[in-house]
Amino acid sequence: MFDEEMDFESRLVTPEFSSADEESMELSLRPRTLKDYIGQDKVKENLKIYIDAALRRGESLDHVLLYGPPGLGKTTLAGIIAAEMGVDIRVTSGPAIEKQGDLAALLTNLNDGDVLFIDEIHRLSRQVEEVLYPAMEDHAIDIIIGKGPSARSIRLDLPRFTLVGATTRAGLLSAPLRDRFGMILRLELYTAENLADIVNRSAGILGIEIDPKGAAEIATRSRGTPRIANRLLKRSRDFAEVMGNGIITKDIADLALARMEIDPLGLDNIDRLMLTTMVKNYNGGPVGLETIAAAIGEDPATIEDVYEPYLMQIGFLSRTPRGRKVTPAGFRHLGLNLPDPAVESGQQTF
Ligand code: ADP
Repeated sequence: MFDEEMDFESRLVTPEFSSADEESMELSLRPRTLKDYIGQDKVKENLKIYIDAALRRGESLDHVLLYGPPGLGKTTLAGIIAAEMGVDIRVTSGPAIEKQGDLAALLTNLNDGDVLFIDEIHRLSRQVEEVLYPAMEDHAIDIIIGKGPSARSIRLDLPRFTLVGATTRAGLLSAPLRDRFGMILRLELYTAENLADIVNRSAGILGIEIDPKGAAEIATRSRGTPRIANRLLKRSRDFAEVMGNGIITKDIADLALARMEIDPLGLDNIDRLMLTTMVKNYNGGPVGLETIAAAIGEDPATIEDVYEPYLMQIGFLSRTPRGRKVTPAGFRHLGLNLPDPAVESGQQTF
């Protein structure tokens, strides 16, 4: 996710990594131990048990699949897994591994126990995926030598590595690949309390002064996503320095967020455009994902991975078998009247 999808760049609340987050800042803010990793208690508790057990047996950790919307800390967690296991990590991504040979080269260069992190693992090609199956299962790869009738396959043993895969939705993975992970862990959007802790921690590392109400304001407007919280913290610091006395107070945070057109619940103009388009053109829904995407000029996958999780979490959008619907709460937030049919079906759903 580091140099791609720059079309998100103009969106301040995009959870995607963009050049606005200097890479060094992301690195310095990344927690390095499970203890420093805020929130995601269920995931942390389970991981801790598996890591302790593997360490006790002197074995490598089983393969881990992390899934959840972008910016929730999957890459960070992969680094923590390697650090807690006391091994090295190699970081790559699905689209970066073009040929079977690329993956073979990566795998044969690992040491015993090392972590191989593949971000966007759902974007691996079928052929590359096929190399991964025996690698994950038997710690071996089959290499074809020669061509035509004289071609033969030899099996090459690999070190006992741990694959950590990350994806936005587990359902994007093919079943054979998904089945080969020993642990499938789902990251959830963060609570405002956890995000306030993350904001305070980041402020401490970056030497930014922020009061508790300022941190709470940024936290509630960060769409449950640490990467967004860190970005809004940085932007608010600019406002604090230029328009205030350098301290991020609630007023300064309010001012900064209003200037960035981020509303009190963290919605930006694209969220609002999506909801209002659904209301104005489709009576609030149900409307199909592809139709919404075409109407607002966004990619359907981006809507599913980036916008929807938060809009559903705050109860503004619901998924029905016939498509997406704006909920009565969503209508109210936009200051729009509920059309009669929406009121009826809204009452059925709630
Ligand atoms: P993903 O790989 O899911 O897109 P990252 O691991 O790159 O997300 O996380 C984005 C940024 O958010 C990191 O640089 C880190 O500073 C911050 N972050 C993520 N999760 C946490 C957490 N649990 N505690 C503190 N900071 C976090």
